[in-house]
Amino acid sequence: MYDLIVAGGGAAGMMAAGFAAQRGKKVLLLEKNEQLGKKLLITGKGRCNLTNDCEIEEIIKNFPGNGKFLYSSLYSFSNWQLREFFSEWGVETKVERGGRVFPTSDSARDVVEALKKFIKNNGVEIRLKEAVEQLIVTEGEIKGAKTKKNSYSGNNLLLAVGGAAYPTTGSAGDGYRLARQTGHNIIKTGPSLVPLEVAEGWITKLQGLKLKNVTATLTIAGEEVVEEFGEMLFTHFGVSGPIILTLSRQVANNLNQELKLKINLKPALSIEQLDERLQRDFSKYSRKQFKNSLGDLLPKGLIPIIINLSSIPEDKFVNQITREERRELLKLLTELELTITGTRGFRRAIVTAGGVDTEEIDPSTLESKLVEGLYFAGELVDVDAYTGGFNLQAAFSMGYVVGNQVT
Ligand SMILES: Cc1cc2nc3c(=O)[nH]c(=O)nc-3n(C[C@H](O)[C@H](O)[C@H](O)COP(=O)(O)OP(=O)(O)OC[C@H]3O[C@@H](n4cnc5c(N)ncnc54)[C@H](O)[C@@H]3O)c2cc1C
Repeated sequence: MYDLIVAGGGAAGMMAAGFAAQRGKKVLLLEKNEQLGKKLLITGKGRCNLTNDCEIEEIIKNFPGNGKFLYSSLYSFSNWQLREFFSEWGVETKVERGGRVFPTSDSARDVVEALKKFIKNNGVEIRLKEAVEQLIVTEGEIKGAKTKKNSYSGNNLLLAVGGAAYPTTGSAGDGYRLARQTGHNIIKTGPSLVPLEVAEGWITKLQGLKLKNVTATLTIAGEEVVEEFGEMLFTHFGVSGPIILTLSRQVANNLNQELKLKINLKPALSIEQLDERLQRDFSKYSRKQFKNSLGDLLPKGLIPIIINLSSIPEDKFVNQITREERRELLKLLTELELTITGTRGFRRAIVTAGGVDTEEIDPSTLESKLVEGLYFAGELVDVDAYTGGFNLQAAFSMGYVVGNQVT
């Protein structure tokens, strides 16, 4: 008989298991994979952006939709406490651009090893390669869980099996099925922080090109819905990079509508300023052909694309370019249009939007309002954030709350 059974050995599950065991509870951790923290290992491109060095209010603002649910968890175990925790377990951290916190060693493995040490030193019983297949509930109370091999009894059970994003890491959506089995409502799930596919064939020629300090504006059925400023990346299928990932949540929710991206390559300049800039470049290169006049303004790879998209012949001499043609060019530079055809799906998404309905979870304890002794933590719950370390902070904080809660 366990005091707590934890399903899922990821960020939330390991945190919960370790803290409960530290309080003297008898804890069993069941993990589907042959190893713990498989997803953690690939976070932050292997460097693990484990939290963000900002105010808690700011963390909450980075959760579109449902951030308020996390108030209690984040104040119970803040970003500062998380960094202190990792420091105690041998992982020093550093702050980078945008407040992103990483291990000083730049190694996600160090984060996973610290968590493993934390749970092992506190006596958590770990069973790998055992997926929870069924929850045992009697008269509204959790009684345990079944795997293919065994049946386990427990007074409390935490479902921390993650969402449906990047299923190769183990979090393949099992939690939604298990939560539904116990009567919970699942808010429609969709991939978020996901690269986007576009229709324009020329995109393939730009594969690998990174643009900094640009804006991307998403339009849905002709309406501008959101604009992001920062860095983006062209890929063989479309676009990715921080500002695209941030926009992607809205895309996944509106795939049945006409979706366009407008890229402003020079957002720091007004149209008038950009026109002046263009005229300066054109007088500098007045005796050159159009194709040789944009080198000061654009990255090399983009020049042939912009030239092809414009109606100006590439061999036209710059001093013969008309005002109308310049206007057309200005539009291309400030509203380079891409037609979104889809997302890369759960397979390539960083997080899952949607999940277990927060209306059915007590925000201060994370216990189910429907089943006594059943808890939820991490990405499985209907909370998801933008990039910056917020998703992991939420998972760690929620895990901490459950670990300190169970009796
Ligand atoms: C490529 C990538 C990069 C990312 N980078 C960052 C980043 O730098 N910063 C950030 O904040 N967030 C990042 N994220 C998001 C972050 O990793 C997740 O939001 C976070 O790991 C969620 O934690 P969790 O504990 O809820 O789930 P997970 O970490 O996914 O853990 C769930 C665990 O449950 C196990 N499991 C699944 N089903 C069962 C079952 N039936 N029985 C038993 N065990 C089961 C899984 O194998 C897994 O080990 C990234 C995600 C991806 C995919």
